[in-house]
Amino acid sequence: MTHHEVSANLLSDTIMKRLDPYFEQGIEFHGYLSPGFVLGVIMVDLAKEILGPHDLIDAVVETKACLPDAIQLMTSCSYGNGWMRVKDWDKFALTLYDKHKLDGVRVFVNLEEVKKHPSIERWLMREGHTRKEELANEVMRVGRSILSWQRVRAAPYQRIENAPLAVCSSCGETHSSVDSDLCIRCSGGEDYYEVMDGAVE
Ligand SMILES: [Zn+2]
Repeated sequence: MTHHEVSANLLSDTIMKRLDPYFEQGIEFHGYLSPGFVLGVIMVDLAKEILGPHDLIDAVVETKACLPDAIQLMTSCSYGNGWMRVKDWDKFALTLYDKHKLDGVRVFVNLEEVKKHPSIERWLMREGHTRKEELANEVMRVGRSILSWQRVRAAPYQRIENAPLAVCSSCGETHSSVDSDLCIRCSGGEDYYEVMDGAVE
């Protein structure tokens, strides 16, 4: 596997200057500076720097935790516009790639380097409670030194066309299923709520 270790340890003044506004927005967003968000911001910044200017970027993140927020803040990719895909792989890694040419940069955490910072390692491995704000500062201090990156070619990604919707014969709401009269919930496939009172207002 080809990958590049990132030796720049401290984030330079120039990098800090460009990342500071994101950290501030992160505080507004989460109410405090979360280490995962800080690391995410540093990762997206590195990926953008290596990839260079591109008009149309797609993003894939490999964990649901924190990284999607950094992507949405720092690129034009969001979950809602479909330019960011989220994999639930529990890997602290992300890829930015050219939508048409498919060449991209994948940035991930270098666990060998992380081992040099036991508190960051404990947090990343989810081995117990951590003092999040202290940790966020430590992540900021170690900067890019705990990251690696590699050039990748993304698999072509076919967006799902917006097929016409059907109306569920039970609840009367829309659904996309082609081979059932019922929506996913009414067919017992999946549920996330229980109706507390019968009245629909
Ligand atoms: Zn239904």
